[in-house]
Amino acid sequence: MKIFYSEAHRQHYPSFEVFDGGIRVPYFENPDRMDRIVSALQKTDWAEFSAPQDFGLDPILAVHDRDYINFLASCWDEWLASDPEIAASPEQHAFLPATFALRRPARPTASIRGRGGYYIMDLSACITAGTYQAALTSANIALTAVNSSFILHNSSFALCRPPGHHAGKDYAAGYCFINNAAVAANWLSAKGKVAILDIDYHGGNGTQDIFYERDDVLTISIHGDPDLEYPHYVGFADETGAGAGFGFHKNFPLPKDTGDEGYLSALEEALTMIRSFTPDFLVLSFGADTFGDDPLGMFHVTRAGFSEIGKKVAGLNLPTAIIMEGGYANEALGENTVTLLKNFK
Ligand SMILES: [Zn+2]
Repeated sequence: MKIFYSEAHRQHYPSFEVFDGGIRVPYFENPDRMDRIVSALQKTDWAEFSAPQDFGLDPILAVHDRDYINFLASCWDEWLASDPEIAASPEQHAFLPATFALRRPARPTASIRGRGGYYIMDLSACITAGTYQAALTSANIALTAVNSSFILHNSSFALCRPPGHHAGKDYAAGYCFINNAAVAANWLSAKGKVAILDIDYHGGNGTQDIFYERDDVLTISIHGDPDLEYPHYVGFADETGAGAGFGFHKNFPLPKDTGDEGYLSALEEALTMIRSFTPDFLVLSFGADTFGDDPLGMFHVTRAGFSEIGKKVAGLNLPTAIIMEGGYANEALGENTVTLLKNFK
């Protein structure tokens, strides 16, 4: 299997995030996650690593707001320029907003703090010196994977970091800056019919927002009930698309403590929907944070569960680009990822 990967993600490693609105903790979405997956893949006899190609900004601007992308590009430099104390010790800092914009009637304002509150949804999307370049490369990894799946008509793995599925058209959220899966699926949708299945523990709010009014890309997310889980305001069962997209989005919010059985039965329903949509390609947003030991999840999916999930999704027999999203039980992350991927060889 082709694995697309770049070391560029190391440029993005904030020294902290602010957890649950108050506690400063080390950044959960850290480079060690990738090291664990790479090392597990290197032990297999089927993982074939390649570097991503550069597709330029056009496919990214096809799903993201230009002013938002400009904000990501210049945020760090503007932040340093705004305060000599920050500029004196940049390694101790990460850009986070101090206030959040209420979207109506808010607008992006001239100050970097004002745009921060407008373009960032929470306190885990910290921006540092290398964030923008790492996010661009991560999007190119996803694009390279869908291009490979298109050309070779087989499955590929985009080892993306930072992840993408919480980033909306014009906002960063939940460790995500550019929505890698959405950029890649939108690019691929010019070449054939695409379905996106999001199996990260957290609802794929960004992907939902981006495709919500479209009927040419089916989007499905299986996740922790937003009544108790991040992203809290989106991902409910009654959100099913709007306008032309009505009926082309589906959320499966599942209760706390969902195990393999409950998870697999929701997955079965999702796969039935995908089959009747008859797509040419599948984009699978894969987060391993459904795992029982994950510090950011409340499901109890087991490693055997990941194997079953992989088997069932691979059973669609579609060229599938698997895009890495979350997963924070670092010690188990490599093996869990390999366990899912090996079904797609
Ligand atoms: Zn997640």
